Amino acid sequence: MGITVDKKDDNLLKVQRPADWPVQAEILALLKAVEHAVSLPTQQLTILVDNQASINSAANPKSHNSIARKIFKLLHSHPHIRVSWIKAHAGYIGNEEADRLAKEAAETENFPETPLELPKSFIKTFLRQKMLATWQMAWDDGDTGRLIHNIIPKVSLDSINWTRNEVLFFTGHGPFPSFLQRFNLAETSFCSCGGIGTPIHYATVCLLTTSYHMAPPSQQHQPIWFRRVANNSTSRRKIHNFLHFLQRETSLFRPDPN
Ligand SMILES: [Zn+2]
Repeated sequence: MGITVDKKDDNLLKVQRPADWPVQAEILALLKAVEHAVSLPTQQLTILVDNQASINSAANPKSHNSIARKIFKLLHSHPHIRVSWIKAHAGYIGNEEADRLAKEAAETENFPETPLELPKSFIKTFLRQKMLATWQMAWDDGDTGRLIHNIIPKVSLDSINWTRNEVLFFTGHGPFPSFLQRFNLAETSFCSCGGIGTPIHYATVCLLTTSYHMAPPSQQHQPIWFRRVANNSTSRRKIHNFLHFLQRETSLFRPDPN
């Protein structure tokens, strides 16, 4: 989809029609149909539309949608043209033919350019939704950050407000022997207490961090446990504090090399 700003009017953008432009496209199609009907010799004429929402907006002279207001004006000054609703996909030949043509057009690579004039606010919202949907797909299908995906499955532009220590804990990329050993920054993944030094180890069972403990998860419930902890402010405070402790007393958590 290509967008160019119309320099003459900063509040309007010219847009090539994207394939999946839902309500806005329906309303534009209705406008085109009404304009065509106006150009015909005067006769009683009914335009059948299978989209209730576009009829409702076209019947509202105060609609926020400028295209809908245009339709209303045209219909008001041409009372011989009527718009009425038709059930979608119900065997009306004209209607099914229109659907078929719409699908065919959407599948064509070289889409004919239809310059639309749409409010900037509408385009902003549309692009934002489109961006979030693309981001969500990439987030759902990605290979990295799966621990975080478990806790925050839905993408959002709002900040999650994790402290640095919480990030270290939930990503596992912190001063944990299990992590350090993976990157050859520690000799072993063992904690000096004898357990494997993972984030969960320190949060639930390590003898050296008992004052920060919370109830441990059963093996198969680890993903749920992480989600619950991330959403609980008391647990998060504990995590923040034991990470602080872990960083301050690093040597305490390393097994004695002798
Ligand atoms: Zn330990």
